[in-house]
Order: sequence, then C-alpha cells, then structure tokens
Amino acid sequence: MIYTGKWKCFWSTNQKEDKIESPRFELVKSKAVDLLLELGINALPVKLDRIIEEFSDFISVFKWSEAKDILKTDDPLHLKQKNISGRALRIDDGCCSRYLVVYDDVGFSSPYKGKPSIMMQRWTVGHEFGHIFSNHLLGTDMLNREENSEYGILEIEANFFAAELFMPTGVYSNIIVPDSDFISLLSRVSIDASQRREWYLTFNHYNERDDLIFKQFFNFLNDDIKLVINEEPFHRNGLYYDFTHKCKNCGYIMIGNVYKYCIKCGSDYKSGKENKKYKNKNFYNGPFIQLPRKNKMCIICLKSSVSEDDKKYACGHPSNNVCSCGRRFGSEASYCSDCGQELPMKRINDMYIQRIEEINQYKYAISKSGYLLFDEWDYIRYKLGPTGLKLNYSVAFFDDFDVLHIITSFNTFSLSLDFIRTKTLIKKELEDSKIVYENVVFNDVKL
Ligand SMILES: [Zn+2]
Ligand SMILES: [Zn+2]
Ligand SMILES: [Zn+2]
Ligand SMILES: [Zn+2]
Repeated sequence: MIYTGKWKCFWSTNQKEDKIESPRFELVKSKAVDLLLELGINALPVKLDRIIEEFSDFISVFKWSEAKDILKTDDPLHLKQKNISGRALRIDDGCCSRYLVVYDDVGFSSPYKGKPSIMMQRWTVGHEFGHIFSNHLLGTDMLNREENSEYGILEIEANFFAAELFMPTGVYSNIIVPDSDFISLLSRVSIDASQRREWYLTFNHYNERDDLIFKQFFNFLNDDIKLVINEEPFHRNGLYYDFTHKCKNCGYIMIGNVYKYCIKCGSDYKSGKENKKYKNKNFYNGPFIQLPRKNKMCIICLKSSVSEDDKKYACGHPSNNVCSCGRRFGSEASYCSDCGQELPMKRINDMYIQRIEEINQYKYAISKSGYLLFDEWDYIRYKLGPTGLKLNYSVAFFDDFDVLHIITSFNTFSLSLDFIRTKTLIKKELEDSKIVYENVVFNDVKL
C-alpha cells in the first residue's frame, strides 16, 4: 500500500496552491511518471484496474450506472445533468482527503451518444486521476466550470496527465513507432489522443526520469511487446487484420498478400485478401527498440570480419540473405516466399534459436534452483551499445549472498579482444544500477 513516503504528504496536504496562470506541463508529467515508477508498472497497455486497486483506500471509482445503485441517487455527481463524462468528489475526513470518482459508462456525455468505448472510459478515469494527483481539488470538493476560473487550465492538465500515464514519454521516445494508430492500439487510447501525443513527442521533453521509465519498460519493449501486438485488438479490430496473415503451420505472422511460402517454416502459404482500406498501411512487427548494430558481425560467432566475396564472414557463416532466384530477404527469413527454397540464413537462424533456447534453459535452471535472475541484464547489455552484442549469449543472477554472477559463453566473451574495455563498461553500468562491483563474478562457461 502506498501510504508512506512521498505519497503521505500528497494525501494529507490540504493547502490550496497559488493561482495557476498556465498549464504546468512538467509538474503534471512528473506526477504521472511518479505513479508509473512507484507502482512498478512495466507494460502497455497500462493496467488501470491495478492503479485503482492500489489506491482503493483513498479513491473509490464507480461507473455511473453502478453508482446510481450504490449511492441511491438518480444522477451521481450530476454527470448527466451537466453532460460531462466523469467527475471527482473530494471528501475531507480530517487528516486525509478521500475521493469518489464516477464516470459515464452509458453514453449521455458522448458526442456520439452511444455507449462509450473502453478506451474512452479509461481516458475519463485517467483524466480524473489527473485532477486528484495534481491536487486540483484541494480547497474545493468538486470542480465546476461555472465557478472555477482555472477550470480550462485544469482540464488541460488532467488530459496531459492521462496522456503521460497511458503513453509515457520514456516509452514512446525510445521505440520505433510506426504511426499513431499503433500508439492507439498499444496504449488503448483514442486515435485523437494518440495523434496529439505523436505531435507532442516531436518536441524534445525527454529527461532523466523518462530514462527510468524506459528502463522499467525495457524487458517489455524488447520482448513481451511482440506477444501483445500478435494478439487482440491488433489483429481483430480490422485495422491490420486482413493485411496480415498467420502461418497455419508455425504461427509466424506475415505482412501483405505477396507470400506463397512462409519465410519461417517454408510451408505452403495461402494468401488472404488485401484490405483495401488499409492498403498502404504497413504492419510493423518489430524490433521496437533500435538495438545497436555492429556492421557485419556474425550473430553466431560474434566476430566481425567479412571475407573477400562479401557473402560470407571469415568464420564461414553467410553475411547476406539472397535466394538463388534473386529475391533478397532480411536475416530473419529462412525460406524464400516466392519459390520456397532454403535461404543462406536458414542454418544461422536455426543455430541462433538453438543458442537462445540453451540460454533460456539455463535461466530456467537458475530460477528453479532458487536464485534470482538479474532483471536489468538485458537493459545493461543494451546500454553497452555494440559491445553489448558480445554478451548476446549470457545470463546474470544473484546467489544467496547477493553476489551477482554473470555467466557468459566461453567462445563469445573471453575470446573478444576488448575484454578489459567491456568489463569497464559493465562496471560503470552496474554502478548506475547501484550494484557493488566487488560483488560481481564473471564465469566464462560454455553454455
Ligand atoms: Zn476534468
Ligand atoms: Zn510457417
Ligand atoms: Zn560466424
Ligand atoms: Zn527464391
């Protein structure tokens, strides 16, 4: 329960602030960032239920239709009469402020006069939380357009809070964002809100605390996000649906209607019909974080020299992925989508998957034996830039004495020539993570 520390003053403050002349964007943003950091929220879409639950001792949130029964009134907080989508009421009980939030789930406030979508309802609650967390209600019990001269400014602030909460700067400044439709689907906000956010992000508002948000969301953005975009509503809501196809054999999702064969498993692939409406819309399947790239580095050996003919590395592994029919593919493809032939990278991709599986087995064994995996390891590797690629096959965990063990594959880490430099860089990053470097042990083992 968040009751202590910095929240404590927040809940007990009863002083009205000075007159607000213009929207306090930085302040309101920091309130939303605090909330995300404090609750350890690390995935999108932000789970609003989780936030409501955390604050349930202080804030009660009801749908309008529910509140009618619970509060035994025809129009809770006069939402319908005033034609507004949500409202917060402050109840002062001596030492603390408590709040009641009611939001329209029926549609009387909607410009479309239909039941508000989940997206709209989420936004309304996020907006009301913005009023509460930005202390808008101190000195009053409810905000009133007619009575409050700052009303317009407070509305802008509350919307800005919701925007930062659902679409954090630290996340969207760091990932490859195909378009505002994508933001809307990933953050579960309206297209309108996502477009405004996209515009906002073209200005540089990034600060150190956004970096903490990025760190907190890193594992999600680097990995789990793929699960989210391969699920609803991305594939069901019609936006990308007819334009993307799932291989019936291996489940790989492909884009467009030009495939005859699955590029992952090579099986015969039945083309779907193209969605005319979104004909020019490209479905983006990652990566979402721009990973450092060392030009011409073999992902298996992690060595970087290219031999004479430019098709192979010195290690003998292929360096590009062209089918004998002439069509070029990205390194992720194992089969030609036109003729179904095996591509040069197939063997590499198989080896890569095998090595990643080996690491995952290792991780599994470590967590099974009761040790704690070091969550930030992938983030630290990312921060190391191209050097981090040399640690592609590695695992980090704490033992019973809080000693951090970094296990690296023998042929990648210790063979790398700038071993000392790599260690120095790791040391710096670990210090930023407040890990005592004396308590770090490197083990070079063949994974
Ligand atoms: Zn408002
Ligand atoms: Zn397939
Ligand atoms: Zn190689
Ligand atoms: Zn081919």
